[in-house]
Amino acid sequence: MPIACLNGIVLSYTDYRENSRMLTLFTAEQGRVDVMARDCRKPNAPFLACAQPFAYGEYELYVKGDRHTVRQCELRESFFSLRDDIDKFTIASALALLCQDVVQEFQRNLELFSLFYISLSHLAYGQGDPQDLLIYFLLHFFRHLGQCPTVTHCAGCGEDLRGHKHLFFSAQAGGAVCAVCAGGAHAVSATALEAMRRILLLPEAELSRVTLKPPLRRELLRLLTGYGRFHHCGGPRAYAIQLTIDN
Ligand SMILES: [Zn+2]
Repeated sequence: MPIACLNGIVLSYTDYRENSRMLTLFTAEQGRVDVMARDCRKPNAPFLACAQPFAYGEYELYVKGDRHTVRQCELRESFFSLRDDIDKFTIASALALLCQDVVQEFQRNLELFSLFYISLSHLAYGQGDPQDLLIYFLLHFFRHLGQCPTVTHCAGCGEDLRGHKHLFFSAQAGGAVCAVCAGGAHAVSATALEAMRRILLLPEAELSRVTLKPPLRRELLRLLTGYGRFHHCGGPRAYAIQLTIDN
């Protein structure tokens, strides 16, 4: 039977029969892949650690048609601390749902895999606020989907908004808008737009530099979750989780 070797992170799982589990992996090589981990819930089963949410490992798989069964797995990272802290777990779950909603089966998506992996590492081991990480993830996730909100120019008329006193943000229009194009859009602070601009420029390796003050953090989370939900950047389940945190 052919064997595939994939580096993947567990996005979700469903228990199957008495002792097995079906895992949805986000793999570096083939995007989303569903795999069966047989008997992984038996006492002392060798795969159990690799069948937990957010586990990252090298999965050696038997392949039969489009069915994949775990033959063995070398755990690289359990990200255990994510399961030990309710805020971190909640945000990690939202990121996993967002990825699960957009990553296609058997389609490599290394850019998003890297964003997801680095975000989990930062959540698990970084010192920053988990919500700041969520803001970083959402902006780069939107950009990855080709749906980044405009932040320096009006999404309606294209005018450069830097220096404008009255600024607005409209998910419908596609981001920041000027007073003329605002319609019923909510006001947004210049600080929030500038923060989004800077966060979008920040490479993944430097995401620990995102440290926001609470009012700005709340404003950005409100704008970005509303924006993502409106543009269907991932399904509504992920945004439901995020809003619980926001409140
Ligand atoms: Zn305008």
